[in-house]
Amino acid sequence: MDADFDLITLGAGSGGVAASRRAALHGARVAIVEGNRVGGTCVLRGCVPKKLLMYAAQFGDGLQDARGYGWQLGGAPADVRFDMPAWAAAKAAETARLEGLYRQMLAGSSVQLVEGWGKLVAPHTVQVGDRTLTARHILVATGSAPVRDSIPGIDACATSDDLLDLQTLPAQAAVVGGGFIAVEFASMLARLGVQVALFYRDRLPLRGFDTMLRTAAASALQAAGVVLHPGCVPQRIQRDGSQFLLILGEDRMLPFPWVLNATGRRPNTAGLGLAVDAQGAVPVDDQCDTALPGVHAIGDVTNRKNLTPVAIAEGRALADRLFSPGHRPVDLRLVPSAVFMLPPLATVGPTEEEALAAGHRLQIFETDFRPMKQAFIGGAERTAMKLLVDADSQRVLAVHMAGADAPEIVQSLAVALTAGATKDHFDRTIAMHPTAAEEFMLMRQASRTLPAAG
Ligand code: NDP
Repeated sequence: MDADFDLITLGAGSGGVAASRRAALHGARVAIVEGNRVGGTCVLRGCVPKKLLMYAAQFGDGLQDARGYGWQLGGAPADVRFDMPAWAAAKAAETARLEGLYRQMLAGSSVQLVEGWGKLVAPHTVQVGDRTLTARHILVATGSAPVRDSIPGIDACATSDDLLDLQTLPAQAAVVGGGFIAVEFASMLARLGVQVALFYRDRLPLRGFDTMLRTAAASALQAAGVVLHPGCVPQRIQRDGSQFLLILGEDRMLPFPWVLNATGRRPNTAGLGLAVDAQGAVPVDDQCDTALPGVHAIGDVTNRKNLTPVAIAEGRALADRLFSPGHRPVDLRLVPSAVFMLPPLATVGPTEEEALAAGHRLQIFETDFRPMKQAFIGGAERTAMKLLVDADSQRVLAVHMAGADAPEIVQSLAVALTAGATKDHFDRTIAMHPTAAEEFMLMRQASRTLPAAG
């Protein structure tokens, strides 16, 4: 067809930018439409600033631990305090730098940036303000935003976007939700001196993660001083002067000066001109094609695995399929993920329950210890590790870890699992000493063997 572009991407977040650049590399004429800053949630309001705040929180622990290692820091512990405005200014400068890099990368790849909000108005046609653009393919990569209507009154509370833009931290905070965002920010805020109470529906936080990780998360949060309220979420939230009342039952309400709404995210589809499913997501098949010819969608807007690297992989695979002769489909069977609380959690592969339900007879190898760095200073922080092994094939199905450096360690082990490693491969690998990671090579005795479920 005769069109202005080969590809128009809606949304200049990580997935949209990766897909657009890859398509341009294959020689496609590409435009990317963005009504907000370039970079998307991960770079501007999510993964990146969140991790920078996590590093800030980690220094608090590090400074205290340093005394145990012989450092004389001078002054009373109370003299050491976190300066949120200083962090906020540095964070703003860093996200601006990254946005600049994203813009440069787009320009360097000859991807045309069209600033404004795009809407599908006809087949192969996008309207941006008063401009009408046509393309052979349209990619919807508009991401997601915090849910604001999960609980009556919660729309007046802060979201993770707001938290990352705070200039001063509240003295006290209620965090509502028990997922990634709730747990990460509860953990960080507590370390930064905020008195945190965490309200979530289930018995443990982080539904969907292996029970070992969920238990470790609850213990670590408690150890950091977070007051846990399992099985307890507000029925509604009411403004009361300068504070919020969490209405928990007939006669039960708790006041907080600041509340974080961490009850999930929803795909950004308003005004796009596209049909959505009951969850508000754009339905796609496993190739990221929608029901409309020439319209594709990747990342959070499809509400499948809402992780930046998945959106990037989907975007690149789509660009390869559309604009180059060979392509490798994205394999989402083993997606590693991490919760950047302190200490962090990381995982690849199914939970114990999922593996059993999938018909595996399981050998479970587990260890739980106080790492050397903590033992030296009498610290209580622990590391827990778990390997799930298929008892018949000896293939390692999953690696779960809670403890310092877990994301760095599990990321590398994910390669072994993708390659189909067996327990024997782990046993034959020479340990690197002294590390925590070596324990994954040294777990010789299964702690439990379980028959497949059902
Ligand atoms: P999650 O889906 O992880 O968690 C949402 C939480 O909100 C759950 O605990 C859920 O409870 C709770 N919830 C939902 N509705 C209600 C309600 N009406 N009342 C009370 N509680 C409710 O969402 P997040 O917002 O934390 O994160 C969004 C996504 O972003 C994640 O799924 C993840 O994919 C991604 N992300 C990834 C990160 C990482 O890789 N480190 C970090 C941050 C986000 P319940 O479990 O009971 O349903």
